Amino acid sequence: MARPKAFDHFREVQEEIGKSGAAILRDAEGNEDLIIDSPYSIHYIHSYAQDSPFFLGLAEGKLLGSRCMNHACGFTYATPRGHCMVCGHATTWMELPRQGKVHSWTTCLFGGEAFLKETPYNLAMIEFEGAQSLLLVRLKDCVQSEIYVGMPVEARFAPEPKYSITDVWFVPAK
Ligand SMILES: [Zn+2]
Repeated sequence: MARPKAFDHFREVQEEIGKSGAAILRDAEGNEDLIIDSPYSIHYIHSYAQDSPFFLGLAEGKLLGSRCMNHACGFTYATPRGHCMVCGHATTWMELPRQGKVHSWTTCLFGGEAFLKETPYNLAMIEFEGAQSLLLVRLKDCVQSEIYVGMPVEARFAPEPKYSITDVWFVPAK
């Protein structure tokens, strides 16, 4: 049987594994690491517990943040938290606007399995009127050169919710 093909870059190894199921990665010191395809699957029964309203909200086309219930504090979170990071008090849910602005952003050339097919993709920290923290979310329907700090954007929701953060993304505001 032929020895698996050897490559210097992981991306090439990935391609080869997709074809033959095995490849060798040569590292900078000349070591040859055998890499194989090893499918792994698990069903994990996961409870969102106190985060449940956020994911149920996405399925209804709503973006939920949270607000500190301590009136002396009242900090507002675009990434919801059960308890306030500023004063430690419990928070309550609040609906965020569907429009926001790009606070900062980056282009990802690699990603986890859920996003690999979309690479390169853009991730942005979104700021909202009435919220003091930011939300990290994908920015679609635009390319890197079109994105700028302060860019108006609006939320889109998956028509078939999977109750995951991929149920929401942002696009340039019309
Ligand atoms: Zn607080």
